[in-house]
Amino acid sequence: MIDIRTFMLVLAIGNIGFAMLMAGYARTAAASPALRVWAWAKLVQGCAHLLGWLRPDLPWIGVAVAANTFLIAGAASEAAAYCTFFGYARWRRVLYPCTALALLAMHGARFAHASPNTLVILMSMIIALYTAAMAAILLRPGAGHSMLQRLIGLNGLAFFAAMSLRAYSGIAHGHMAVFAPGAVQSITYLAGYLLMIVNGFGFLLLCKEEDDQQMARLATIDSLTGLVNRRAFFERTESARLLATRLRSPIALMMIDIDHFKRLNDRFGHATGDEALCLFAATAQQTLRDHDIMGRLGGEEFALVLPGTELEGAVLAAERLRGAVSAAHMSVSGGTYGMTVSIGVVVIDPNEHINSALARADHALYAAKSAGRDRVEVGQSRLRVVAG
Ligand code: GH3
Ligand code: MG
Ligand code: MG
Repeated sequence: MIDIRTFMLVLAIGNIGFAMLMAGYARTAAASPALRVWAWAKLVQGCAHLLGWLRPDLPWIGVAVAANTFLIAGAASEAAAYCTFFGYARWRRVLYPCTALALLAMHGARFAHASPNTLVILMSMIIALYTAAMAAILLRPGAGHSMLQRLIGLNGLAFFAAMSLRAYSGIAHGHMAVFAPGAVQSITYLAGYLLMIVNGFGFLLLCKEEDDQQMARLATIDSLTGLVNRRAFFERTESARLLATRLRSPIALMMIDIDHFKRLNDRFGHATGDEALCLFAATAQQTLRDHDIMGRLGGEEFALVLPGTELEGAVLAAERLRGAVSAAHMSVSGGTYGMTVSIGVVVIDPNEHINSALARADHALYAAKSAGRDRVEVGQSRLRVVAG
């Protein structure tokens, strides 16, 4: 059996320690607003446990009321931090009346001179409900959970079970009290300790996981068009090329350049030019398959890789893309503007370096420009380039 009072002090120190850690981390510019709420939740919970630890030495009703208020407010803030983190603004608002109700029930019972057993049952049920809400947010069906989310959610469920057991034990045996020893109390406090550790580090790691994903997005996605950027395009294309070589399947490549783009910029301004780039990207994406790789290489130059596609199929796809772009008019001051693209198409040779294939496609693109623009040209095969 564990000594409950000592354990309360341990929980107080642990939660306040986590609050300090979180508050320090939350000072960095990128920290999520949920982390600040979380830091407050941990501080309030730490204070609740500290007051709980002090209760036998300060047996005033004010200390007990403050301890209960802090405990409920801490659990509510923790749930609010999860709502903020996962974007559940509506659920966050529901927490306010729920918390007011929980405080009313708890303090009402105390001032109505409810027995210690009843107070413990009530508090256990309130905390169990908040923990269930947190676990539900983390394990909600239909969401793509990370392993980290699942672990924190399952740990929340374990604490919910321990708190429910404590409430049940009070109802069944009628002699539960805050500092009562026993197996059920030990299980509850050990589960609470585990929850503090797992949730404390877990929430920090959740924030970091989100930051990492955001950084990875920023490093690979072109912020204007949402297409992959030059670096990510080369990486993905190289993987696709290696896979195609292993599977002995063809892989086609296109270089695409918007025609007279400078003219569009000069006539309607840079912002309209940007809009045109976005329109092109959106139009192109509608004509692509899931595993095609489309990247913005720079300015108004794009490249497209079509795994599993022979030259004939690639030319058809290029014509489809060319047609879709010329059909997609954008509104500009005083009417609409239709843009066109020129495209160079090649099939990547199994052992060819991507730069060499791009150079061939670029050559074909140049030919399309010379031949009058708004057209598709096929590049020379690699053998001819090497031999020539
Ligand atoms: P061509 O038909 O021969 O391709 O003519 P062009 O005018 O499209 O070709 P050029 O390469 O001379 O011009 C490309 C222009 O694209 C020049 C540059 O100002 C503009 N540009 C490059 N990046 C951006 C961008 O991010 N936004 C906007 N609005 N314009 C860009
Ligand atoms: Mg151009
Ligand atoms: Mg260009």
